Parts: sequence; C-alpha cells; structure tokens
Amino acid sequence: MTSAASEVFAPAKINLTLHVTGRRADGYHLLDSLVMFADVGDRVTVARADHMSLTVTGPMAAGVPTDARNLCWRAAEAFGQPVAITLDKHLPAAAGIGGGSSDAAAVLRAMEQLFGRPFGGDPLSLGADVPVCMVAHAARMQSIGEIVTPLDLPPLRAVLVNPRVEVATPAVFKALARRDNAPMMPLPDSRQADAVFGWLADQRNDLQPPAEGLCPEISQVLGALSSLDGVRLARMSGSGATCFALFDSDTPTEAMARDLQAAFPQWWVAATILT
Ligand code: ATP
Repeated sequence: MTSAASEVFAPAKINLTLHVTGRRADGYHLLDSLVMFADVGDRVTVARADHMSLTVTGPMAAGVPTDARNLCWRAAEAFGQPVAITLDKHLPAAAGIGGGSSDAAAVLRAMEQLFGRPFGGDPLSLGADVPVCMVAHAARMQSIGEIVTPLDLPPLRAVLVNPRVEVATPAVFKALARRDNAPMMPLPDSRQADAVFGWLADQRNDLQPPAEGLCPEISQVLGALSSLDGVRLARMSGSGATCFALFDSDTPTEAMARDLQAAFPQWWVAATILT
C-alpha cells in the first residue's frame, strides 16, 4: 500500500568546523567540515499530484521563493515525479545553516518514502551540502561535499543565534584570503564531549574572518555568545551569519536563550541539541 503524503523534518545544519583546503580548476572549493544537526528546523510535506506546486508557510516564509528557484522544487524535479510540496519554514534563509539544502534533502527522503523507491540521482547536483543533509546526523564532509563519513559523536548542547542579516555565500568565498588552508586535525580517539570540545577549539571556520568583514553583526553575535556562562566554544556556521555556542550537557541553555532573545529581540535565537 502506498500513502498519499509523506512528511520529513529538515534540521538546521551546523558546521562545527569548516576548513577550505583548496579550489579546483572548475571553481569548486575543497572543504573539510564537521557537521552536526539541530533539533530545530523546517518541515517538508510532499503529496502525489498531477503537477508540481510549492506552498511555503511558517514564521520564516517571507521572501522564500515558491517556484523552481526553491531547492525543494529542484529536488522534486530531480526525483522525477510531480508532487505538491508544503514547506513549513522555521529557519532563517541565507543563514549558513543549510536551510535550502536540508529542505532539498528532506524532499528527497519524503519522496523516497512516498514512491517506495530510492532517489536514483546525485544529491550533490542540488548543492554541496545536500549529500550531508541526506545523512542528517553527525558527519565529516570532504572534497566538494560528495564525501560524507558518518561520525559517532555525543549529543552537544548548543545555542544558535542569527542576527537576521542575510549573507550571500559567494560573496564570503570571494573575500576569503587563502584557499589552501590546512585540513582538520585527526579526530580525538575519545569521543567524550570534553575531548571533542578540546579538539574543536583547535579547528576553525575559515569563512568566519571574511564573513565578519562583510557583516559586522557576526562579531556582535560572537561577542554575546562568548560571554554566556559556561560557554565551551563559540563559532560561526557555514558562510554565516548564524553562530553557535556549545555547552556542557547540564547547562540551562533554554533560560539563557530566552534571556538573549529578550536582550536582542531582532535576533533569531534557539536552544538546541546537536546530534
Ligand atoms: P548554506 O549553509 O548551504 O550556505 P544557507 O543557509 O546560507 O545555505 P539557504 O537558506 O539555503 O542558505 O538560502 C540561500 C538562498 O537560496 C536564499 O536566499 C533563497 O532565495 C534560496 N532558497 C532556495 N531554496 C530555499 C529554501 N528551501 N529555503 C530558503 N531559501 C531557499
């Protein structure tokens, strides 16, 4: 029996590290990144239909394209079946947390369920972050996004903040000073949170300095996150402007996020667990 509709959660993608290690002759950047996924995100529903349609709802729907510019639409086209898509948008767009990529991966997974067959195409063709978003769980992403190695990491408590300034990914790459940076160091043998925090502190997001140059609000967000009680690490995700702070598992991050939201009503703030 086949169902009429399928719903899949599209979690925020957080780059805990993002090393830009080179650039290919065709212009694609070589990356080495540790990625985890939040318990905040968008929700995608797909239903069988005679022709393609896309409805975007939710608190972050404003300005999100509802046609073939939307990665959800392109994912459904790549799957090769017309569907009616509903995207319930909770993540800020152009925010470095892979909203579009995670939505596209969710559409592919929802269509796999709906039509009872695997996606036959290449997720990479929809974007560098789509393969890792298909895994939607802690992983190392390498090369131009097609090498994804799932990792066994402890759940990490985090606060996410976006200053509600959109950052265009190409502009950040353009402003990057060097493209031949060192890859990540080998992951620690111990996967205890303490060992992971120590290792993370020695890694980087190479896009953070150029993004801060283009968007001073990122420095303000990092300053606010770094001053929270018990913070273990504060860093930018992806090409920004969303930043994250990591905490020990017993830290009252919900209350901290509420206080931060009250102090900066214009920001998007979320307490989350990364897995
Ligand atoms: P990444 O972390 O992969 O660089 P991002 O979070 O910075 O991605 P997106 O949220 O994917 O960026 O949005 C980038 C642009 O893509 C937006 O400006 C928007 O016009 C377009 N877009 C296409 N599909 C979507 C979608 N499903 N949700 C939000 N924006 C989308």
